[in-house]
Amino acid sequence: MTKVDSQLQDNTANNIRLQGIGPTSKRWRDRLIHRLKEQGISHPGVLSIMGHLPRHLFIDEALSHLAYEDTAIPIGFKQTISQPYIVARMTELLLLRAEKLDRVLEIGTGSGYQTTVLSQFVRTVYSVERIEPLYERTAEKLKRYGIRNVKLDLTDGTWGWPEKAPFDGIVVTAAPDEIPIELLSQLSPDAVLIIPVGGQEQMLNVIKRVGEAEEFEREVIEDVNFVPMLTGTTR
Ligand code: SAH
Repeated sequence: MTKVDSQLQDNTANNIRLQGIGPTSKRWRDRLIHRLKEQGISHPGVLSIMGHLPRHLFIDEALSHLAYEDTAIPIGFKQTISQPYIVARMTELLLLRAEKLDRVLEIGTGSGYQTTVLSQFVRTVYSVERIEPLYERTAEKLKRYGIRNVKLDLTDGTWGWPEKAPFDGIVVTAAPDEIPIELLSQLSPDAVLIIPVGGQEQMLNVIKRVGEAEEFEREVIEDVNFVPMLTGTTR
């Protein structure tokens, strides 16, 4: 059994609890999984989690009919819940490239959907959000859903989360124009940073720290479309 498999098993309590909530939309989720596979997602753990986790619990009820479409959906404050494909892709890249998954930082908590997906593979997920009402809403939601291995903070993630660093992986779900240098300094040896970079035209980058050196390898994955990474915090 791989480490990820065993962590998955450790977390099955979370899955069961989540499956019991809300309308049963297994048929919709099966369709979503079918589509993710067609788009090249192949990691069994990722497909399994995304097939079990009810995405409609992370969006406004009025939009829940869109929950299993492969699109980004508004969550208020000009932000969106990420498209399932990109959540799957970033998670898969993290699982394939990271050496261990004890501590992972997510920048841009938003709806908490990607956070929850990560929480199924990572011992402790740290996630930061800069918009206070989103932070509060998602903190309350994750508590209600019984997701315990996630620590949230209201802060500008451009600076990472220095008090909790170093991280085995950092996943950024909003796009800066350039890679914030602070994030590189918060990677543990062999850790990875998965980050969309660019303005109008964005590319998904995977940056891997080479052992303990202050040296990094960059891999450019594909073009993506995220909301911009902004500075400061806001109410
Ligand atoms: N992972 C989220 C994506 C939400 S969209 C989801 O699936 O729901 C990106 C989020 O990043 C938004 O909530 C936005 O407010 C937040 N964000 C943008 N810039 C940020 C920054 N500098 N620090 C922290 N969060 C940021």
